Amino acid sequence: MVMTQQMRVGVLGAGGLGRGMAQLCAQRNDIRLVAMADSQAYAFDAQGLDPLAVADCSTLLDVAGAVPSADSIIDLLKAHGSQIDGLFMALPNLPVTFYAETVQMILNETGYKGVMVDALKRTKAVEAMLGLKDQIRDRGMVYITGCGATPGFLSTAAAVAAQSFVEVTEVKIWFGVGVACWEDYKATIREDFLHMPGFTADQVYAMTDADIEAELAKHNGLLELHHMEHADDLLLEMAGVCSRDRVTVGGLVDTKSPNKPVSTTVTITGRTMSGKTGSHTFTLSDATTMVDNVCGPALGFLRAGHLLQADAKSGLFASTQVMPVYTLASVSLPAVAV
Ligand code: NAD
Repeated sequence: MVMTQQMRVGVLGAGGLGRGMAQLCAQRNDIRLVAMADSQAYAFDAQGLDPLAVADCSTLLDVAGAVPSADSIIDLLKAHGSQIDGLFMALPNLPVTFYAETVQMILNETGYKGVMVDALKRTKAVEAMLGLKDQIRDRGMVYITGCGATPGFLSTAAAVAAQSFVEVTEVKIWFGVGVACWEDYKATIREDFLHMPGFTADQVYAMTDADIEAELAKHNGLLELHHMEHADDLLLEMAGVCSRDRVTVGGLVDTKSPNKPVSTTVTITGRTMSGKTGSHTFTLSDATTMVDNVCGPALGFLRAGHLLQADAKSGLFASTQVMPVYTLASVSLPAVAV
């Protein structure tokens, strides 16, 4: 019988996506959630955290055995980094360099050398991350950037769909997101304002929760976003699919209902070998939520990173350059020394 070796996963950030990831891990017997960190504390258990206790908390301080810390990520990784195979970053990214600065701190202050994936959205954020690629490779880490829904799931699907064409002329992503309460996904909704006309990053950073609430009320809770500065463009360019100016991203975000206001699609248009123009469209099921489409692929990319490390590979990869790994419980995972 093939034995399954669980991948030991930590989640940085315990907001909407971090807690969603904890709930997903509870249903995956190939994954053991061993650590979480938020802005006030970290929790670690080598045997596995109780994902449902974590999923229910408003801060990790409420979780039995959590360690209060104002520098929770560094304290967690200093104390337990060697027992964590992979990390999912579910942190806010305002200012836009926050993830790159956090990874730089991890490199400087801890010896962590497992796999890391992020669900970064903005092109500038991924560009900042690329500046760390030599340090990441030299550390022996595998870091896969842009592993959420968009970029991530949709841009990787586009990279697969591109294979039928001799030239890709357009990639158009149009997403629908529905959340019952914006406060469950504060960073996600706040960052969406960056793409609304008339808002600058500095303004959005300075807005209070009450300001966000008031802006949402002006739009009846529905945000319509066009020509977003989204890293799908850079990640598809890195994968050699097309130049970034051929990629557009937009969508509708309903902050008053868990139902999607529109189905999420990615349409890849290209020129065929015989000179015709054609399009493939990939439509996500309306039954899937933002958590399904961000956390599921993020786990798939974590698993892919783990396999790369087992094969002695290291470095920084774009999600579009790596196929996420979907693992059934009966498939074995190689052991990785970290
Ligand atoms: P959230 O605001 O609900 O939660 C953020 C969490 O990070 C909180 O638990 C907070 O305590 C923690 N945190 C903040 N600063 C910290 C620090 N210095 N150290 C440790 N923890 C810290 O956020 P969310 O809505 O879950 O979104 C998380 C990220 O996911 C955002 O960057 C968002 O843009 C991204 N996202 C990506 C996609 C995609 O498809 N790529 C989709 C949705 C969200």
